[in-house]
Amino acid sequence: MEIHRNLIGGEWVAGLELLENINPSNTEDVVGRYAQADAAQTGQAITAAKAASPGWARSTPQQRHDVLQAAASEIMSRRAELGDLLAREEGKTLAEGIAETARAAQIFDFFAGEALRLAGELVPSIRPGVSIEITREPMGVVGIITPWNFPMAIPAWKIAPALCYGDTIVFKPAELVPGCAWVIVDVLHRAGLPEGVLNLVMGRGAVVGEAILDSSDVAAISFTGSVATGTHIAAKCAQHMRKVQLEMGGKNPLVVLDDADLDTAVNCAINGAYFSTGQRCTASSRLIVTEGIHDRFVAATIEKLRSLQVDDARKEGTHIGPVVDQKQLDVDLAYLDVGRNQDGAKLAWGGERLNRETPGFYLQPALFTETSNTMRINREEIFGPVATVIRAKDYDEALELANDTTFGLSSGICTTSLKYASHFKRNAEAGMVMVNLPTAGVDPHVPFGGRKGSSYGSREQGRYAADFYTQVKTAYTLP
Ligand code: NAD
Repeated sequence: MEIHRNLIGGEWVAGLELLENINPSNTEDVVGRYAQADAAQTGQAITAAKAASPGWARSTPQQRHDVLQAAASEIMSRRAELGDLLAREEGKTLAEGIAETARAAQIFDFFAGEALRLAGELVPSIRPGVSIEITREPMGVVGIITPWNFPMAIPAWKIAPALCYGDTIVFKPAELVPGCAWVIVDVLHRAGLPEGVLNLVMGRGAVVGEAILDSSDVAAISFTGSVATGTHIAAKCAQHMRKVQLEMGGKNPLVVLDDADLDTAVNCAINGAYFSTGQRCTASSRLIVTEGIHDRFVAATIEKLRSLQVDDARKEGTHIGPVVDQKQLDVDLAYLDVGRNQDGAKLAWGGERLNRETPGFYLQPALFTETSNTMRINREEIFGPVATVIRAKDYDEALELANDTTFGLSSGICTTSLKYASHFKRNAEAGMVMVNLPTAGVDPHVPFGGRKGSSYGSREQGRYAADFYTQVKTAYTLP
C-alpha cells in the first residue's frame, strides 16, 4: 500500500512513524498509510513557509486566482471519488461526503474570484495635500490546525483564503482524517504553488501542533476543534502576541413554537441533530419545544427516527453512518448513561450500540425527553447522534432557554410567525441564526462563526475571512 508523505518545502518527505487510517464503518479496512511528522520536521516546514513568504506575498492576483481555480475545478470534477474517500475515512454518508467535497471546491472557487478583487482604499486626509492609502497585507506564515469532522471543507475554508491573501501555510490536519488533507494538498501542489507556500505536517497535536504553537515564526493560527484545545492554543498565542482565530464547540438550540409547521420542524430537528452522525459543531443538540406542539413533535420525531438506516457510510440507503472512532463512541455512550442515570432524563428513543455486517462504531440515534436545561446533557457538547427535548411554556421562555448556554454558534427557530422569527433573529445570542432551517448547513460565501465559548477572533469564510488572513496598513503621503 502506498505511503502518503508530508509536503515540506515542495518535497514529499517520509516521516519517522506511520499511521494507519481506519474506516469507522469497517475497522478491518485500512484506508491508507500516512507519514507522521515530528517536531523537527514541523520546524523545517515552518522554515520553508517563512522562506516562501516574501515571494508569495508579491505574487500577482492572477497567479493566486489560477492556482485556486485549478484546485476548485479538479476537486469538483473528482467529487464522487473524493467524497467516497471522505465517507470511508470519516464515516459520513456517501451523499454527505460528496456534498462536502463539492463545497470545498466552491470555497476554492470563491477565493479564486476574491484574489482578483483585492483592493485598498484611498481616503482624503484632514491635512491639506496629504493622501491616505489603506491596504491589506499578508500576515506571513499561518498555522492551520483542523478537526476531523469536516475533513475537506474546514481545511478548504482556511487554506483558500490564506493563499488568496498572500500567506504561506503550515497545515496540521486531525489525526483521524489524513486522507482528505493529503488530497487537498496534493491538488494544490500540482496546481502550481511555488515550493514552501503550502506545507503539510500530519501528526499528533501534542507533537506537531505544539511545535507550531511554539514557533515565533508563525504569525497567526487558525484553529477549529474542541474548547479544551482552543483554550490551550489561545493561551500559547497570547505568549507570542500572535493573532489567533478559534472555532470550537456548540450546544445549539432549535426552538419549535406551537405555530410551526410540524413537518418542517421534524425535518429540521432530524437533519440538524442526527445527520453526519450528530458530529457537527452546528448540530441541533437541544430541541426546545413549546407546550402546544410538544407531544406531537416528539411522536413525529420518534416516528422519523425509526425509519433512519444506520449502516456503512458508503452503503446505498444509509442515512446515518458510524461514529468516527472508539473514543468518540465511548464519549457518546457515557453521556447516554449520564442522561439516564445521573440527570434523570427519559430516553425516549435509541441509544443502542448496533451491529452491522462489518465491525464498525454504529450507534442508534438517541432522543432524550423530559429534560431540563440544567442537566449535564444540556450543558456539555456530546458531539454524537444524541439530542434532547426541553419543554418550554411559551416563546419568551424558549428564547431564554436557547440563550442559556456557554456556547453561541448557531441557533434556530421553527415558526410561521413573522413576529417571533424577527424577534428571534435579533435576540438569539449566536453567530448564526436559522429560521425554518436546520441549525447545521451553511453557505460557503458568507461569514461563519459564533459567540461566547464557541468562537474567538474574527469570522471565517466569505469576504470577512480577510480580517484574519491580512493585516491593515494605513500609509500617509505628502507629495
Ligand atoms: P480537538 O480539539 O481534539 O482537535 C482539533 C485539532 O487540534 C486536531 O488537529 C488536533 O490534533 C489538534 N491538537 C490537539 N492538541 C493540540 C495541541 N496541544 N496543540 C496544537 N494542536 C492540537 O478537536 P476534534 O475532536 O478534532 O474536533 C471536534 C471538536 O471540533 C468539537 O468540539 C466540535 O464542536 C469542534 N468543531 C468546531 C467547528 C466550528 O467551526 N465551530 C467546526 C467543526 C468542529
